[in-house]
Amino acid sequence: MTERRVRVRFAPSPTGALHIGGVRTALYNYLFARQHGGDMIFRIEDTDSNRFVPGAEEYILESFKWLGIPFDEGVSFGGEHGPYRQSERREIYKKYVKVLLDAGKAYIAFDTPEELDAKRAGIANFQYDASTRMQMRNSLTLSKEEVDALIAEGKQYVVRFKIEPNEDVHVNDLIRGEVIINSSILDDKVLYKSADELPTYHLANIVDDHLMEVSHVIRGEEWLPSAPLHVLLYRAFGWEDTMPAFAHLPLLLKPEGNGKLSKRDGDRLGFPVFPLEWHDPKTGEISSGYREAGYLPEAVINFLALLGWNPGNDQEIMSMDELIKLFDLSHCSKSGAKFDFKKGIWFNHEYILLKPDEEIAELFVPILKEHGVEAPFEKVVAVVGMMKNRVSFVRELWEACSFFFVAPTEYDEKTVKKRWKEDSAQCMTELMDVLAGIEDFGIENQEKIVMDWIAEKEYHTGNIMNAFRLTLVGEGKGPHMFDISWVLGKEETLARMKRAIEVLK
Ligand code: GLU
Repeated sequence: MTERRVRVRFAPSPTGALHIGGVRTALYNYLFARQHGGDMIFRIEDTDSNRFVPGAEEYILESFKWLGIPFDEGVSFGGEHGPYRQSERREIYKKYVKVLLDAGKAYIAFDTPEELDAKRAGIANFQYDASTRMQMRNSLTLSKEEVDALIAEGKQYVVRFKIEPNEDVHVNDLIRGEVIINSSILDDKVLYKSADELPTYHLANIVDDHLMEVSHVIRGEEWLPSAPLHVLLYRAFGWEDTMPAFAHLPLLLKPEGNGKLSKRDGDRLGFPVFPLEWHDPKTGEISSGYREAGYLPEAVINFLALLGWNPGNDQEIMSMDELIKLFDLSHCSKSGAKFDFKKGIWFNHEYILLKPDEEIAELFVPILKEHGVEAPFEKVVAVVGMMKNRVSFVRELWEACSFFFVAPTEYDEKTVKKRWKEDSAQCMTELMDVLAGIEDFGIENQEKIVMDWIAEKEYHTGNIMNAFRLTLVGEGKGPHMFDISWVLGKEETLARMKRAIEVLK
């Protein structure tokens, strides 16, 4: 038997912002597809028009663009198996509904909502299935003439899947192993509604996976209960031979581990659950996103990759290429993954360190602009190189190193009390002379000359350095002293010292 080409799909319903769990599902599909040289399809499952939210599709596409997950085929990408938006495939589904009806694997049901309610009231745990379907108004209990007449009259109906009772349905899951479910617990699911001439999720999903030649269905655990029904649908169509392999990914859990991660957990603990900021067009509510919160896409990818999978050792930092090499569906965990958002912050810090200073500087320049600072790019790069190990977000660089760009106008009272001694003004005036005479203001040369001067004068190194720092920074913080004076340059260093001596003396 020839190996089947690997084809996976990410098939969101455009009902709002993409949840971070959905991002992880897409990521795992992507890693799996790339690893096998296969294709990844982007399909929009929009057959439930009541839940359609304008802007959601664009939002999802923009999210993947930001995250660096490209699709090979699908809505906005094109391909041989389109259209990829289910609302544009009505005629295809109608044809397949007819196939099931003609084969006696599905039937037409006319029961109104009121009739169904009455049944529910009369029968405990009512379920529309083999035990009840012969008491209902459907094409199994009505004559062909009656059915045709009702349809001709314009009566609304649904098409239901006729599930044979008491049969063990085997679902082979690449993560969970074999899951066996007895068909008697399933109801005769609605596959199609005449009211909007659209199929339900189950039918459209199976027909599309078949026609789009999907080889592996990798999706969230919440879809596991649908899997037996999907297996039965494949069988009803006679498509067992090309049935995709299933892999149901573990749930994302609250950071505390008790229950499913929700948007409320994000609001409560202060982390985003969406990739990008989302403006809900119905409620006007704005929800934060990883992008706007200042996360690097690479950090988000790395963080998500490890929520439910690990490479089998304690390696944590992995690029997309490494993830593609190492990812293994069979190493995904069955149990839920705690959403440790602090780990996400740690990853962001690590990626800030990994990235070239120039790249971080590019991100810092607009933040400097917001604060009215325009500085030479090389200076920004130098500052970033010195300070980036102190922050988890690029935005935090401002707090950590604004003093490089803005001269202090005030001097921190506590620091002054502790570090500005009686002779500080005198010493700093002398130091200004020493610095003014230095030709090569490079870090090492400066340090050597100043240290020699301190030794010669028999001054206390700590006292000199503390006072020097206070004059340049305005307080006691900052990196290595000569890193600061080097970045500031001779002129600015001397100007700041002069001013500090005037104010503090
Ligand atoms: N439309 C479903 C969703 O929103 C797809 C589920 C599946 O992958 O089968 O997640």
